[in-house]
Amino acid sequence: MLAIGTELIVGETRDTNSGELARSLAEAGVDVAWISALPDRLETVTSALRAAVAAADVVITTGGLGPTPDDLTREAIAEACGEEPAVDPELVAWLRHLFERRGVPFPETNVKQAWLIPSATPIPNDRGTAPGWWVDRADGGVVVALPGPPAEMRPMWQEWITPRLKKRGLGQERATRTYRLTGIGESAVADRLGERMLRAENPIVATYARADAVDVRISAASEPRRPAASLLARTEALVLAAVGEYVWGYDNDTWSEVLGRELAEKNWDAALVEVGTGGSAARLLGEAAWLKAAREIAAGEPGAELPLAGLARQAGRSAGAWIGLAVRAVENGEDTQVELAAVGPWGVTETSETAFLGGSEGRRRAGVAAASYLHRILRAANPAR
Ligand code: ATP
Ligand code: MG
Repeated sequence: MLAIGTELIVGETRDTNSGELARSLAEAGVDVAWISALPDRLETVTSALRAAVAAADVVITTGGLGPTPDDLTREAIAEACGEEPAVDPELVAWLRHLFERRGVPFPETNVKQAWLIPSATPIPNDRGTAPGWWVDRADGGVVVALPGPPAEMRPMWQEWITPRLKKRGLGQERATRTYRLTGIGESAVADRLGERMLRAENPIVATYARADAVDVRISAASEPRRPAASLLARTEALVLAAVGEYVWGYDNDTWSEVLGRELAEKNWDAALVEVGTGGSAARLLGEAAWLKAAREIAAGEPGAELPLAGLARQAGRSAGAWIGLAVRAVENGEDTQVELAAVGPWGVTETSETAFLGGSEGRRRAGVAAASYLHRILRAANPAR
């Protein structure tokens, strides 16, 4: 995938196109080999195209299809394919008509938007003046050139290109699973999984440090006589053996959904009080139906210093909830001390832990710690799960 435009590499425009297209390709089971951003420089784009064509079945470019001399994508593709561009009579008629419709004279610079090379088919663009190119490569692969503006690129991709790529047998059957972990850092997860698993090509196992979890994602592609699902299942078992004790959710699970499921088993609900966290626990849990009340006490406000179990009990009682959960964050040097208490049908539990970093990051982590703490308690109360 090549994003073309000097504005992208000087940081004026963000390349959102490549990420969007990559996501759609990944969903279709395609491995994206690489994404690069390139300046409006003919030599650079041409050599990047040559390397991409040599490495991948499908090469997609966005940008550089405009009418101005710095829009060089067509020239670069022609050069990389060893073909000469020529004005296509139908395209030029369509372009002229567009300008007539708006009552403006047709600028001769726009003629290059009507270029084609012999192996290119134009991709209609209903929202702009730059048709795309679908280029059938001599080696059986494809080069797709799309305009840069997302509003033009997007419908062309979805409506015209995707169906044609699918007809060509795009992608393989894939099976994926994400485990969501808490209470362990990404590097410790990587250590436990081991380099061999993390470097394997199929299934691909990768870790991601997200705001609410460390995710372990497994993605398996079918091989001859080895369906994706069975390849996935084998690796799932290995991942669970290594880090299963830290798993709190799967795939798109959120804290609020997972806690909601655990609470529903017992018909319980909860109320929350947080101190010095900036409201991070309530933000994380969102407007969950099981959360009957959420109150925030700023550090230094009355009540902020009270024993935490008392705050938890009071929160549960005044909301009429089965469980009262309290969390307090206190900056401690460079890190954050997180105190936790919960009062419920099992009695009172309390703990404290250190969250990495202070400031807003520490407060955010205190919110995750509160969700994680409630989860541990509920797991112990729902031993069947
Ligand atoms: P046009 O015919 O509209 O000029 P073009 O193919 O020449 O199309 P560019 O000139 O490269 O497109 O880009 C036009 C605008 O599209 C940019 O100014 C930018 O706002 C947006 N754009 C370009 N490339 C990207 C990208 N990779 N991600 C997000 N936006 C982009
Ligand atoms: Mg441009």
